[in-house]
Amino acid sequence: MEELRSFGFICPKCGKAQVHQRSRFALSAAAARMECECEKSALQVETDGVKFRLMVPCGVCGGEHQAECSSENLLEGRGIGLACPQTRQLCCYIGEEQDVLRSMENLALRVEKDKSEEQEAFTDNVIMYEVLSELKDIAARGGIGCSCGSKRYSLQVSRGAVDLICADCGGKLRINAATDEDLDRLCCQMKLEIHGR
Ligand SMILES: [Zn+2]
Ligand SMILES: [Zn+2]
Ligand SMILES: [Zn+2]
Repeated sequence: MEELRSFGFICPKCGKAQVHQRSRFALSAAAARMECECEKSALQVETDGVKFRLMVPCGVCGGEHQAECSSENLLEGRGIGLACPQTRQLCCYIGEEQDVLRSMENLALRVEKDKSEEQEAFTDNVIMYEVLSELKDIAARGGIGCSCGSKRYSLQVSRGAVDLICADCGGKLRINAATDEDLDRLCCQMKLEIHGR
């Protein structure tokens, strides 16, 4: 039986995968705190002799979870994975070093992938780009105005649409910018009129 147990989690603050080792003896003897190198999160493990209680920083949902497990599960055998109660994905692994390292590699990749999908700013980048450049053309020929008579407006870009907002009355016109049809609809317009208040 290996002397050491490994603990793996992803720091919710800096996003780094963490694998820490503690000896079985130390874990049974005293509370343990495994801090990320950014010092903003730490996995905490304490025992009452029968079971272990853990505070797990969760890199999947960004929160922190309390978990309990038996001494056998924590100290012996192939190890366990703890699931994030928010997302139901495993967010923490405890066990033999090789197993934990392998699981953490997969977890880090998955979290990275989820994050990059979230950061995708627009429903369709190409359509959004085309819509914005079309709007620029219409604006350049003075085609954007409000029914209140104003020609001043601001532009607000969200994931799948652009809002034109009249600077004088606050009236709003939404231009969808997510699909080919949205683009076609915009391209045949000479003028865009915001409906004033
Ligand atoms: Zn960190
Ligand atoms: Zn979580
Ligand atoms: Zn107006």
